Amino acid sequence: MSSKDWIDKDYYAALGVDKSASSDEIKKAYRKLARESHPDHNPGDTGAEERFKTVSEAYAVLGDEKKRREYDEMRSLFGSGAFRRSARGAGQPGGMPFDVSDLFGGGAGGGDNRFSGGGFTDLFSSIFSGGGAGGPARPRGPARGRDVETEVALDFEDAVRGVTLPLTLRAPGVCDTCHGNGAKPGTQPVACPVCHGAGVTTRNQGSFSFSEPCRNCQGVGTIVEEKCPECHGTGGVTKTRTLNVRFPAGVADGQRIRLAGRGEPGERGGAAGDLFVQVKVRPDELFGRTGDDLTLTVPITYAEAVLGTDLRVPTLDGTVTLRVPPGTPSGRVLRARGKGVVRKDGRAGDLLVTLDVVVPAKVSDEARAALETFAAQTPPAAREHLDARVRRFS
Ligand SMILES: [Zn+2]
Ligand SMILES: [Zn+2]
Repeated sequence: MSSKDWIDKDYYAALGVDKSASSDEIKKAYRKLARESHPDHNPGDTGAEERFKTVSEAYAVLGDEKKRREYDEMRSLFGSGAFRRSARGAGQPGGMPFDVSDLFGGGAGGGDNRFSGGGFTDLFSSIFSGGGAGGPARPRGPARGRDVETEVALDFEDAVRGVTLPLTLRAPGVCDTCHGNGAKPGTQPVACPVCHGAGVTTRNQGSFSFSEPCRNCQGVGTIVEEKCPECHGTGGVTKTRTLNVRFPAGVADGQRIRLAGRGEPGERGGAAGDLFVQVKVRPDELFGRTGDDLTLTVPITYAEAVLGTDLRVPTLDGTVTLRVPPGTPSGRVLRARGKGVVRKDGRAGDLLVTLDVVVPAKVSDEARAALETFAAQTPPAAREHLDARVRRFS
């Protein structure tokens, strides 16, 4: 994120508060918005996740008296003035060839001293780690750990009822034998003889000079003479860790669950990344699922459809008896209320039973005779509207 982006952000609008809002009002607004958009309450909703991030970022600044003061100052300086126009006009006719990042990069030649060493750089480095500003790197906060994505397959019933499963994750980690420096225990990496420890080499070409990562040490600045036997000198190993993950009742196929802070640990005490678990639900042999409703198809005979019957059908944890009224057409859906997926808050979906009138492939002679008698007593099926069209072609 560049400082230009930052200036363009309206943290007050993000929290829906006035610029003169008290710190209490800001806190209240933040709590409400954070609650509404919290990923735990909106699993799989990337819009909510985005809103949550925006709100959190805004509160990180406005919720801190000192940062808020600096932010206000910054916006009153740059919010709508010539600075912004010139920054946008860079490279266009009449526009000044000027980039905001020059001001904050730290090293850009002879910048305006108002902005170096003052509150703004502090503000930037505390909000952003690894921001996009140019110039030499300055020490920033410890890096946040990376987010981790994984996929898990749940049994149908586990997804309906909720389940806690151990999840084994394999991720790159620091070698414990050499603590990441890649050198055999008892030895130390030595300064690279090519770049003398700088990690970069400089090449002159006319009046320009180019810096590039040192090829001898791959930009690290040191080389390992005796390699660590565990990681073969790379300093990294694949680590396995096991987490117990709770899947809430009613979790759906395709849902993405976010576990804040369960991703990779941050470097040197930085915040951990998040773990995202993509859920796959294995199909059940009997039941299907549409949201919180379970679905079930039940075959019935023609006689049952005509005469009506009581059907005893399975639910996930018992049975339920459904009345099929006389004259029920094939495909009719009967609803057993509250026999679907029960959510954490106690609300439950329904069991939707689709009746499927089956036609026997073979019948006994007696049945055939009875059916012929039946047919003789029954008016023909209502096909007049089709017959009219058929006659056109005959
Ligand atoms: Zn080197
Ligand atoms: Zn090692």
